Amino acid sequence: MTLRGRLTAAFLAVVLGPVLLGALFVGGTVAAVGRDRAADQLSVAATAVRTSVSSLCQQLQAAADAVAVATDPVRQTDVASQVVARGLASGVVVEGADGVPTLRTPGAPRRPWADCAQPSADPGPFVGLAVRIEARDAAGVPLGSVWATHDLDAATVGRLAGASGTAVTLLGGTPPTAVHSTESAGTLAAVVAAASGVRGDAVAETTDGRIVRRVGPAPGQPLPLVLSVPTGQAQGLYGLLVCTVVLAGLFAVSAAWWLARSTTRPLAELAAAADRAAGGDLAARVPVRGQDEVGRLAVAFNRMTRETQAYVKALTTSRDQLRGHLAVLGDTLSSTHDLQRILQVILETAGAATGASGGVVLLLDPATGTLVGQCGLGVEAAGRRVPLGAGLLGGVAATGVPRRGRVDRDGPPLSPFEPACRTYVAVPFNVAGPPAEPVPGVQPPEPTTASGVLALYDRLGHDEFDDADVITLRTFAGQAAIAVDNVRVHQEAQRLSLTDPLTGLWNYRYLRESIRREVERASRFGRMLAVLALDLDRFKEVNDTYGHAAGDMVLVEFARRIRGVVREVDLAFRQGGEEFVVLLPETDADGAAIVARRLGAAVRDDVFDLEGAGGIVVTVSIGIAVFPSHAATAQAVLDAADDALYAAKAAGRDGFRTAPGGDPVMAEIPVASAAVTPTDNQPRAGIRPAGGASSGTQPPRQTRGG
Ligand code: GH3
Ligand code: MG
Ligand code: MG
Repeated sequence: MTLRGRLTAAFLAVVLGPVLLGALFVGGTVAAVGRDRAADQLSVAATAVRTSVSSLCQQLQAAADAVAVATDPVRQTDVASQVVARGLASGVVVEGADGVPTLRTPGAPRRPWADCAQPSADPGPFVGLAVRIEARDAAGVPLGSVWATHDLDAATVGRLAGASGTAVTLLGGTPPTAVHSTESAGTLAAVVAAASGVRGDAVAETTDGRIVRRVGPAPGQPLPLVLSVPTGQAQGLYGLLVCTVVLAGLFAVSAAWWLARSTTRPLAELAAAADRAAGGDLAARVPVRGQDEVGRLAVAFNRMTRETQAYVKALTTSRDQLRGHLAVLGDTLSSTHDLQRILQVILETAGAATGASGGVVLLLDPATGTLVGQCGLGVEAAGRRVPLGAGLLGGVAATGVPRRGRVDRDGPPLSPFEPACRTYVAVPFNVAGPPAEPVPGVQPPEPTTASGVLALYDRLGHDEFDDADVITLRTFAGQAAIAVDNVRVHQEAQRLSLTDPLTGLWNYRYLRESIRREVERASRFGRMLAVLALDLDRFKEVNDTYGHAAGDMVLVEFARRIRGVVREVDLAFRQGGEEFVVLLPETDADGAAIVARRLGAAVRDDVFDLEGAGGIVVTVSIGIAVFPSHAATAQAVLDAADDALYAAKAAGRDGFRTAPGGDPVMAEIPVASAAVTPTDNQPRAGIRPAGGASSGTQPPRQTRGG
């Protein structure tokens, strides 16, 4: 059963129940009162009827007495005539002692008569009411009877009815039927039927609303009479009652319908709206129909769906933003090795994922022990240097433990080198790989110094960062670590592909690229480029004498000495074996000669220390060519330098030669004689043997004159 049905039923029960009960009570009371009043009326009427009949009997008694007094028959006849003529009786009958009538007035009713003295067993119907007097002579001998009678006709019954104020019916016969009646013909049969069941003072009620009682036959009133009276106004009252109940019922039904509808309609609307909201339609609203409890519920429901809708919208927006950031992050990671750009995108994505309004990424510079700002979100990061252990960022990097919280509550005091903030979350990361996840039951490794810190500040909406944000940020920190790692690996690979692993100088591949670039640049700006080709003298002998490993050590040391001589802008290459090239941008033949001289001295003047073999003296031969003085292309200038080297070798080694042509060059360096005297008397590459003992391969020392 619906709520509306229950409410309607309850209201009807509450309203109609008392109305019906009241109506029944009033109806019952009215009926009882009506019956009582009718019974009282009948009782009074019965007395009146008895009195009327009784006075009629006394009148007949007087008439009979008057006739009986007259003993002479003539006189008797005369008196009887007078009695009838005066209306004291309808007729007079005189009977002798033998019962034979001796006098009978004309019109005297025939028997049967109802005797006033005592009711007869004869049920009638009676045609007259009679009184009998016993006539006696002076000696008291009975002479006979004198009867005075009165006609029992409709007029007599009508007079009785007039005297009693009720309808009167005279019964007679077996079963009793109405002889004369003032009751209406329509109800007479019901009145007679009801009267047959009552005796004495009792009353009965007919189906058409009449109260009935009997009067007589009894001594003094020998007539079988029925008095009847309508209960009268009760009928109207019943009608009024029924009308009232019907009206009340109609009112109750419509009021119950309206009440139930106005109560359940907002509830039904609420239920429908809640159903829609449950189905995902958060735009569902209900009309507010008042200030009552249901109205307040509707207001609360509308607010709830409105706020949920806004929340879902915000979530969707932030999810879409995050998707966008992740897409950018993926693209960036796969498309570039620009570390700053990658870290910037990681920081922005982390900020979008956590709702931070600011952030910064710092990487540790191991040389200085400071964290160097790489990129910032809403804060300036470039040039920011935070000492390890200082403030929040330095502390997180030093301990390797993530932190989150509010500066004013959880600290730590911020160092002046880091951005100001209110709330923060900062996680460390190690470039060696992502941070290890804790394993239950296993002691985590000692926190170590991190190689970088990723920090976010001041979450939007004034909320603090929570543990979920720490986890999120660790994920991004892992990404950052991998990115840094990848970039460094990439840079290392790049470097390795262009450098010589033994000496660390640029390799032949990079030489080809560099000389082309430098020649192009020199020609564009109208500058010179000097090319030095270097070849260690008699290096084979070093290998042969001290072994290949010692030869490698000489090569490494030789490269170190080259680096020590050339400028920052100059480029040194190992072309292969013990052959090297040095490019000197914006340098002419004279400048190149100075460098060549310095190089020769740097090699020659200090012995090369070989572990277990002592020091040996090494020399180098150098060929110089200058672009554009000696050649017009990269390859040509390289070839020219090689040719000049060849010339230097041919000229006796440990010196330099400049390619022919071009501007005159200042005097080429002579070989310093006896520059070094090794102590071990071992043969030396490109040098005279120590202590004058020639190795047999000793080249002639020459002074290469210009
Ligand atoms: P010169 O140039 O004065 O004419 O005499 P040289 O002995 O240096 O002659 P050459 O240039 O022909 O010999 C080069 C030698 O350098 C051959 C090889 O034994 C040695 N060599 C080349 N590459 C390496 C290297 O990577 N390591 C070592 N230890 N030796 C190398
Ligand atoms: Mg060589
Ligand atoms: Mg050589």
